[in-house]
This record gives sequence, C-alpha cells and structure tokens, in this order.
Amino acid sequence: MLTLEEIVENGLCIGCGLCRGIAGGDQISLVMTPEGRERPVAKQPLQEAVLERINAVCPGTRIPGAASANGSQPPIFDTVWGSAHHLAIGYAGDPATRYRSSTGGILTALGQFLLQSNRVKFVLHVSASKTQPMRSERRLSFDVASVLEGAGSRYGPAAPLVDFNDILDRQEPFALIAKPCDIGAVRNLARLDPRVDQYMRYALTLVCGGASDLSKSEDVLDRFGVTEDELSLFRYRGNGNPGLTRIETKDGRAFELTYQEMWEEEAKWMIQPRCKICPDAIGESADLAASDVWPGGGPTGDDAGFNGIIVRTERGRELFEAACAAGAITVDRQVGFADFDVFQPHQVRKKRAVWGRLKGMEAAGKPIPAVHDLRLAECARQNTVKQNLAEARGARVRAKSGRLGEPPAVPRQA
Ligand SMILES: Cc1cc2nc3c(=O)[nH]c(=O)nc-3n(C[C@H](O)[C@H](O)[C@H](O)COP(=O)(O)OP(=O)(O)OC[C@H]3O[C@@H](n4cnc5c(N)ncnc54)[C@H](O)[C@@H]3O)c2cc1C
Ligand code: SF4
Ligand code: SF4
Repeated sequence: MLTLEEIVENGLCIGCGLCRGIAGGDQISLVMTPEGRERPVAKQPLQEAVLERINAVCPGTRIPGAASANGSQPPIFDTVWGSAHHLAIGYAGDPATRYRSSTGGILTALGQFLLQSNRVKFVLHVSASKTQPMRSERRLSFDVASVLEGAGSRYGPAAPLVDFNDILDRQEPFALIAKPCDIGAVRNLARLDPRVDQYMRYALTLVCGGASDLSKSEDVLDRFGVTEDELSLFRYRGNGNPGLTRIETKDGRAFELTYQEMWEEEAKWMIQPRCKICPDAIGESADLAASDVWPGGGPTGDDAGFNGIIVRTERGRELFEAACAAGAITVDRQVGFADFDVFQPHQVRKKRAVWGRLKGMEAAGKPIPAVHDLRLAECARQNTVKQNLAEARGARVRAKSGRLGEPPAVPRQA
C-alpha cells in the first residue's frame, strides 16, 4: 500500500481528484503545485482504512480494463485497441455544436442528448474556470447550453472527481465525460461503492495523448507578454477543427496560435509523468470513446470536424444508436481498428511501449500500478525484443534518476 505522498512522488498521480472526492476536503486538499499540476495533499495523517480505499481506486495504483465495464463480449477486437461494438467516423448533428467543440462535437452532442432524452439528470464534466479561464473546473451541467459551455479540449490539469462522493450523494442518474484515467478511477470505485453503477449511467471519454502541466499554457502567455490575471478567455482549440488556440484579455487584446504552433515541439508538451506510462489512454473502460481522425496523428489544416467513435459497451451502443436515430449525431462512415492505427500512431506506439516501461520502473525499485485486463504483454509482443529492451532500460534509467517521479506536492506561492 502506498501513501498519498508516495503515489505523487513516484509520478503515479494524474490529479483526478478522486482521493479528495472520497476522503473529503477536511482530510485532503487538491493544490496547484509549482510545476503546474493539481496534486492531493493530506491535511493530517490519513487512517489506514482511508489509505486502503484510495489505493483501491486511484488510477495511479490500479488501472482497470474493459472487463469491469462490459456486459457481453463485443464483436470487434484488436490487441492494441481492445474491444468494441461499433467503430465509426461521425460528428454532432447540430452544426453549432460541431463548430464549437474540440473535434466534431460527439461528446458534447451525446451529453446534450442524454439530458434531452431524460436518460440522466446531469452531466459531470469539466470546463474553463469563469474566474481563471486558463484553468479547468469540474462542472455539473443540467441543460444543453451548459454542456456546450464545457465543449473543447482542456489540455492542462483537470480534476473532475474532486467531489465525487457528493455527486453520488445526490442519488440522481448522471453521465461522466472525462479522460480515460478519470473513467478508470470511477470504475475502480464501482467495485467498492454500489452507488457508482446505480447512478452513473454512462461514462464517455476522449482518446488521450496526455495532460500537460499548467506551465505549458503559462509558457504560451509568456510568448505574448500576458499574465494569467489579465485573461478573459483561454481556448485551446475548437471553433473549427482543430481551430486556433485563442487568448483574450479583459482589456480587449486577442492572440492566436495554430495547433501546429501550439504543439510543434514534443519536448515542450510538458506532459505529466503518469501519462508516459498510461496503460489505457484509449478509453477501454468507458462506454464510448471519441478521437480525432487525422491520418498520421496531426492536422494538416482546419476542417468541419470529424470524430473517430469507439463504441465500447452495450450501453454505449444503445446510446449511439438512439443518438443517431434522433439526429443528435451524424455518421459519416464505418471504419475498423486498422483505420485507428492510422489516425492514432502515437497511441499504438504507447500501448506497445508501456509493458517495457513498467518493467523498467520495477527494475529501478519503483512502485507501479496494478494493471488489469489491458493486454500489455501481448501488445509488447508486437515490438521487437530490442524495442522492448530499449523501453525498459530507458524507463529504468529515468526512474532511477527521478525523471519519472515528481517533487513532493506543495501549493504554489500566491
Ligand atoms: C488532455 C487531452 C489529450 C488529448 N489527446 C488526444 C489524442 O491523443 N488523440 C486524439 O484523437 N484526441 C486527443 N484529444 C482531443 C480529443 O480527441 C477530443 O477532445 C475528442 O476527439 C472529443 O472531441 P469532441 O469534439 O467530441 O469533444 P467535445 O464535444 O469538445 O467535448 C469534450 C469533452 O471533454 C471534456 N474534457 C475536455 N478536456 C478534459 C480534461 N482535461 N479532463 C476531463 N475532461 C475533459 C469536456 O468537458 C467536454 O465535455 C485530447 C484531448 C485532451 C483534453
Ligand atoms: S490520481 Fe487521483 S486518486 Fe490518485 S492520488 Fe492523484 S488525485 Fe488522488
Ligand atoms: S494519458 Fe492517460 S494518465 Fe494521462 S491524462 Fe490521458 S488518460 Fe490520463
């Protein structure tokens, strides 16, 4: 069993907020660290039972696969991509939603449809903070306008589960739209708390290349000589696909960057340590996952917005079919996992690399997450022995030198 500090300092925390969500704000606070990561800090020594529960649910210590979400065995399977009921390319039926959203607006459209069809009472997701628009806040949306306000990719820290116990206490059916690690955390909790399966009717996710530190966004502000307290808008993408990164200040200045300008150098992505060993960045434990569909993994220009859609569960299939029938989403064409290999080459490489990386961390004497039903060894067998050795050795060296870990979590000085 790891302490909260050990989870953080070994680079296993992604800042989902669930430990605070289940232990309560009187025991754990979530702070923004000097590195630009949201991390939990225990306000007092945690009781063993609390720590045991955290270790059982934290996506840094336990990562579940599809088995915990799926009822019947889906008909489509790929060693890297896992199981699916259906694969398609599509977009939001409403042109305004499609335009405003990150890619084609599938997640927003499904969130809206879930409310309109009375399948859920609210949607739990994240959106830009109204007071600090470069930061993200967990949001409860009870109407379609609010779901739309949360549209878009929030590449920096985001903690949708920060008060998850309070959300279960509402005893109302809801949907969660969040990153794959957030969904995995909630699936972990479902093993301990029956209210999760009782009230969380749908879990929708995005295919995820990793969450960057807030410092990445702060670097962008530095380029333009803007400070965070001057901001009135920080939109990473959207208003087209991918659209421009747009920054607006309260005194009326505006700055824009293309997606390529924002993400041109991988070395400057400032992706959080946990993402580098992520065994499920493709949403195997969700009901449905949405992605970009750029051949080669990156955009060559703007388009109207097309999502890759991976329908993972029976529940996801029922939702997908009902949303198509109602016109909430439009299907462009059916695809296969071979197409996703083309759209997401970085995901394929990562899924094949993680087994070696975790072995390297273990060899360095570091703790690693318990990974369930994600076929990591099978994926690694698609590499050459030399590639796996390179991944393991690289991770061992980085882990030994502390580069896969993090400093102790402390709040930033104001
Ligand atoms: C951190 C991150 C990494 C990404 N990496 C990839 C990638 O490797 N490959 C790829 O194809 N696409 C990636 N994307 C983009 C993602 O694919 C698109 O967001 C997805 O296609 C959904 O598009 P959409 O138009 O349906 O989303 P929208 O309709 O705009 O809805 C997005 C939903 O996701 C929620 N959300 C946004 N950011 C976060 C966050 N940080 N944490 C929790 N919830 C969030 C929002 O609240 C909203 O409800 C990434 C996005 C993020 C935020
Ligand atoms: S990953 Fe989530 S549950 Fe785990 S320590 Fe970090 S904030 Fe807490
Ligand atoms: S790469 Fe994995 S750990 Fe990182 S944000 Fe995405 S799903 Fe979470």
